[in-house]
Amino acid sequence: MINFNVPPYVETSIGYIRECVEAQKICGDGKYTKKCNEWFEKRTGTSKCLLTTSCTHATELAAILCDLKPGDEVIMPSYTFVSTANAFALRGAVPVFVDIRPDTMNIDERKIEDAITSKTKVISPVHYAGVGCEMDTIMDIAARHGLRVVEDAAQGVMATYKGKALGSIGDFGAYSFHETKNYSSGEGGAILIKNPEDAERAEIIREKGTNRAKYYRGQVDKYTWMDLGSSYLPSDMNAAYLYSQLEIADEINQNRRASWDHYYSRLKTLADDGRIELPYVPAECEHNAHMFYIKCRDIDERSELITHLKSNDILAVFHYIPLHTAPAGKLLGRFHGEDEYTTRESERLLRLPMFYGLTSDQVDYICDKITEFYAR
Ligand SMILES: *Cc1c(COP(=O)(O)O)cnc(C)c1O
Repeated sequence: MINFNVPPYVETSIGYIRECVEAQKICGDGKYTKKCNEWFEKRTGTSKCLLTTSCTHATELAAILCDLKPGDEVIMPSYTFVSTANAFALRGAVPVFVDIRPDTMNIDERKIEDAITSKTKVISPVHYAGVGCEMDTIMDIAARHGLRVVEDAAQGVMATYKGKALGSIGDFGAYSFHETKNYSSGEGGAILIKNPEDAERAEIIREKGTNRAKYYRGQVDKYTWMDLGSSYLPSDMNAAYLYSQLEIADEINQNRRASWDHYYSRLKTLADDGRIELPYVPAECEHNAHMFYIKCRDIDERSELITHLKSNDILAVFHYIPLHTAPAGKLLGRFHGEDEYTTRESERLLRLPMFYGLTSDQVDYICDKITEFYAR
């Protein structure tokens, strides 16, 4: 059986976790959390990174930092994971969904400006499959309208747009270390923060609304309730597991990229023959091989292909029922403009197995089975 996802296994992780357990330092903000934060600050060039319990929580933290009030509007794609919308809806804000570009499956930057109203406060682009959104355009729109930008970079760790790390371009960036992501801590995430004033407040919100972080640094002699807050910091054991992967992040990235390139070259003939479509990566984007997907003709063909692959012990999956068509999406959000591509493209997309350690033989086998399917 070729699984769709296998969490990265790194030799050093057990030793790092053992070290936390034996030192009896297992709560948040320990040695490994600090190492991870610093690693991201260095690699992304962001002034502040804070590990969180998930990308969902990182986005919630960003939503609090944006001071959203009930009725405020946040522009985002409908083709995304529920967390992009939930994080803002929890503050009473209304997700305003905009159509995607069919080539990258990212929010169509040309359709954003028309969705802006006097209530719009935030734009939240999602870097689908670790391929950057058209950030120059989005940052320019945000600047002209006085909006904040919260990047959902859950899938974008180690990927760049015009040389800048995804997640480090907007006011805030949210990373995910869920088991299914390129780098994982089981459940986990991080928030990247551009401005130092936001960073100080983020530290408080993340620590139950207290200035405990300052207290630990000896900057205040007691800690107290300062602001709204929640508990968004992960155990140092999770950070230890994550750190073992960060130490070999380039190797993991190259390994995934090799699988991605192999898929691409093996399936190119089918694409050239017009049977399937392959992912598109704009020249200004360096992707991280978070996923390899193909697009089938339509939803029926996709279902048949999934069945065919499953009968050959290959697990391929699809995702994202567009949020504006989901029960909560209808209740809490609205779609602005026409749904030209969101639903149509989401019904054609199929994700193939992709993980660190996927072998070249496995990719060949999967491609053989896909080719076999289209030769019917
Ligand atoms: C995985 C993912 C999330 C959620 O990440 P968690 O760490 O599980 O909260 C949010 N947005 C996108 C686009 C994702 O792919």
